[in-house]
Amino acid sequence: METNAAFAGVTCTDCAETFEAADAPGRCPSCGGVLDVEYDYDALDVSRETFEDRGERSQWRYRELLPFAREAAVTTDEGGTPLVSVPALAEEFGVEAVYVKDEGRNPTGTIDDRAQSVAATAAREADATDVALASTGDDGQSAAAYAARAGLESHTFVPTRASFTNKAMVNVHGGDMSVVEGRIGDADAAFADAVDEHDDWHPVQVFSTPFAHEGLKTTYFEVAEALDWTAPDHVINPTGRGAGLYALYKAATEVADLGLVADVPQVHAAQAEGCAPIVRAFEEERDSHEPWDAPDTICGRIEIPDPVGSPLALEALRESGGDAVAAPDPEILEGATSLAESAGLELGASSGAAVAAAYALHERDAFDADDVLVLVNAGAGSKDDDILRSHLMGKGI
Ligand SMILES: [Zn+2]
Repeated sequence: METNAAFAGVTCTDCAETFEAADAPGRCPSCGGVLDVEYDYDALDVSRETFEDRGERSQWRYRELLPFAREAAVTTDEGGTPLVSVPALAEEFGVEAVYVKDEGRNPTGTIDDRAQSVAATAAREADATDVALASTGDDGQSAAAYAARAGLESHTFVPTRASFTNKAMVNVHGGDMSVVEGRIGDADAAFADAVDEHDDWHPVQVFSTPFAHEGLKTTYFEVAEALDWTAPDHVINPTGRGAGLYALYKAATEVADLGLVADVPQVHAAQAEGCAPIVRAFEEERDSHEPWDAPDTICGRIEIPDPVGSPLALEALRESGGDAVAAPDPEILEGATSLAESAGLELGASSGAAVAAAYALHERDAFDADDVLVLVNAGAGSKDDDILRSHLMGKGI
């Protein structure tokens, strides 16, 4: 594998052993733990101008802080998404500014494109022929797209409840799809069995490979640069597997340690009450989650009852001084539809959790008058048109 100069291997977050990238494409070969990419930051020679002087708008603008060279990238120009201000919310919360980082504007309409770009690059660098993942829908669609771009076969395991759009688009990209009866836990199990059987399949699911969540970091780099290299005070992230949350925190500490940005924001987790293992673990002050027994939320994207990367997400919450909020489905859907109506923004149903959590944090007096808030919209609202419209019809609209 051809990696960047500062790339220093992948390290197990459980047993702390470090491996060469080529030796550990999935989980830790020693203990099965989640692997994370490490860099030799002293070997990095970057400044704000390094990035500002580039014409490139895609996430590969921040190539030095990714594992692979720009020439190697499997990319459809993901990233470069706008940070859109929502003055009405800022006024309501009594804060300086509220922004939505609108990841729905990515090539397949989700933040997952950032992850799949880097994961597909890793797979191609490893001379893989096939990639595989279990998916609630969006990342499966994205993985199929990036596998197609890279000339790889993709194998996606989705639960029956995944949306029609996601399933259809996996097919449209020429991907192989297994629709697994049940929910995401059943799809995860089918994926694990299939990977055991096909040991040449390269995993591309977040936390099943170190290279997927690594791509999600670029979301934060863009936020910091858009705010003229300052950190927002709060970032509120809709949270399922916890990869986005951890990546935001990792990115924030990287640019702080490199002296590009002075501060690190508080990162907050937003989950649905019907499946909130990370929120519960945070409230009970545990270092990892207990699997959620009976997940039940309309927000399929974040319905992850057994998020294997929870220790990393919980570390991000605690180290950054953040909080964790579980909101009921109607408040989450109201969060998404209210911004559609009042601000013209199209948030995915699950990302309404970030809006609902912002209201809850406001109630908890978490915000100061000079605070800047960023809410992450992880996916395009139009992918969830039926769920969002049903919410309005439920209100008699
Ligand atoms: Zn290990």
